[in-house]
Amino acid sequence: MKTRQLVREGEYRLAKAYCMDPKIDAEELYCFLTGMDRMGIFMKAEEEVDPETEEKYMELIERRASRVPLQHITGVQEFMGYSFDVNPDVLIPRQDTETLVTEAARIIGETPREKLSFFEKLRGEKEWDVLDLCCGSGAVGVSIAKICANAKVTGSDISERAVETARENARKLRTKAKFVVGDMFGPFRGKKFDMIVSNPPYIRTNMISILQEEVKSHEPLTALDGGRDGLDFYRIIVDEAADHLKPEGFLLLEIGHDQGEDLRKMLRDSGKYSPAEVIRDLPGRDRVVKCKLK
Ligand code: GLN
Repeated sequence: MKTRQLVREGEYRLAKAYCMDPKIDAEELYCFLTGMDRMGIFMKAEEEVDPETEEKYMELIERRASRVPLQHITGVQEFMGYSFDVNPDVLIPRQDTETLVTEAARIIGETPREKLSFFEKLRGEKEWDVLDLCCGSGAVGVSIAKICANAKVTGSDISERAVETARENARKLRTKAKFVVGDMFGPFRGKKFDMIVSNPPYIRTNMISILQEEVKSHEPLTALDGGRDGLDFYRIIVDEAADHLKPEGFLLLEIGHDQGEDLRKMLRDSGKYSPAEVIRDLPGRDRVVKCKLK
């Protein structure tokens, strides 16, 4: 069979299994198997594929057709232009979450000069102590460390296996981000940061059953389930972050598209933070809340 026919066949099979992006996934799996890029498929469209490759390709397609996420087959997901290792122990980094990283990096990159201490002025920049709470794969923390040379990133997660994945990503992407196992602020008693970022679990428990098959059957539930109203983790964070922020330290949280008002109110009611700003993602939905310690 020719390359073009084989990949088309893969696409049909995935479409029949109700996969969301059958064409992209069929091409990605062919690239993963052969090591070529998407352009390669186009260039070799009319070439014959050897029977062994054909068989292996259809095996991959069948796995994907059983609704295993593409990224669990390839083992990677691109995020902020970096390639992160992923596995069933961590949430696959979402493009929506780039909004959180972009905003964090913007704040860190735009430190006004008058805010610098004497030594920071000598060095020419402020050193930012950043905490990535519920780090999962480390995509948020490691990306911030990659983008901001002046950020010292620490991340934590209750899942030991997630922390192992985050450490591996920090190593692979050559950053000094550190990751520790622990429940929320548990490992950080007495420690204060310039910025806390988090993408905690925020899906309402009764919404889990209507998520896509790939998500509900293959991604870690502990990374998704935010309790009855989806806000359980925000309650803990809003309550405790103030004790772990330096004066005027930033709190940046990813939120569900319909949680902006709840979070704004929760932050206001706590009385500890400056008025929160809600930032939208690329498709224009509320995605991040940002505030400062008063
Ligand atoms: N945005 C993710 C999803 O819709 C959820 C991420 C989270 O709960 N932190 O699958």
